[in-house]
Amino acid sequence: MTTEFDRTPGGAIIMNGNALRDETVIRLRSEIQAMGLGMPTVCLATVLVGDDKPSQIYVRMKHKKAAEAGMTSKHVGLPPTATQAEVEDAVRALAADPTVHGILVQIPLPAHLNTEAVLDLVPADKDVDGLTEASMGRLMRGRPGHVPCTPKGVLRLLERYSIATAGMRAVVIGRSSLVGLPLAVLLARKGIDATVTLAHSRTNDLAAVCREADIVVGAAGIAGLITAEFVKPGATVIDVGVSRTESGIVGDVDFDSVQSVAGAITPMPGGTGPMTIACLLENTLEAARMLGALPLATALPEGR
Ligand code: NAD
Repeated sequence: MTTEFDRTPGGAIIMNGNALRDETVIRLRSEIQAMGLGMPTVCLATVLVGDDKPSQIYVRMKHKKAAEAGMTSKHVGLPPTATQAEVEDAVRALAADPTVHGILVQIPLPAHLNTEAVLDLVPADKDVDGLTEASMGRLMRGRPGHVPCTPKGVLRLLERYSIATAGMRAVVIGRSSLVGLPLAVLLARKGIDATVTLAHSRTNDLAAVCREADIVVGAAGIAGLITAEFVKPGATVIDVGVSRTESGIVGDVDFDSVQSVAGAITPMPGGTGPMTIACLLENTLEAARMLGALPLATALPEGR
């Protein structure tokens, strides 16, 4: 490991997602600028149903960072009482709009709505969240398509901090189709080559399973689940979980105890969250290319 990175008091490298997001935004901006005038503006559209405050903050942040990357964005906000037909009409309109390249439907949708039916309306090439059945199918088949943003952000952090993955043992805690499952598939992919265990709420002796791992990713949404006793000395620990507590946002990783054992660790906040947004913007630029709106010549390097 290099010494150029900031470290925790216990000596673990801090995997700084804010810094890597900022680098990514600058890179995307310069790629867009390099294409010159006369190109259509890359456009991200978001759909938010309801008035959930954290979701509103996430969506605002996505628009702000899209603007910093030189993209435009559109927002469709619908009331919490919106009907299935109203939400579907909004998504259908964005799907048909040639000036829109990426569509993100902020989930969870209110409970009365059928999320799968809404996601089914997002064309795979515009599915910058990588969540639709078609995108998941492409991922499983190893075909070109959009990779879900949070798992992709985890890979970007591993890459940026030169964390070895080939032949290493990785444990992903959480098996959702949003985070854990696609991340496990990606980590096991040829070229990344980790040996992956997908742990979940029924896993026996989770601490012992994790102690075997060179890379542990917490994506369970259980505050402080991963303590020092889960971590092999020198292992990389990545925190995806977000729990809102009275003392603020808390991750799945008990940072204070784990940082003294881990070799590298993500802060929470400031680790995987910002990278989710960075990867959303990467996917949006890719979407514009996949849709033929922009030249392919300077396509982004393949995600690891
Ligand atoms: P989810 O509720 O769909 O899935 C949680 C998973 O964790 C399940 O597979 C479950 O089996 C597992 N789990 C639950 N309790 C467990 C336990 N005690 N031990 C082991 N496994 C357990 O959640 P999700 O949508 O996958 O999100 C996971 C977490 O990641 C949430 O806290 C969410 O807020 C957060 N999240 C963060 C980002 C980010 O950008 N950092 C993005 C998406 C989600």
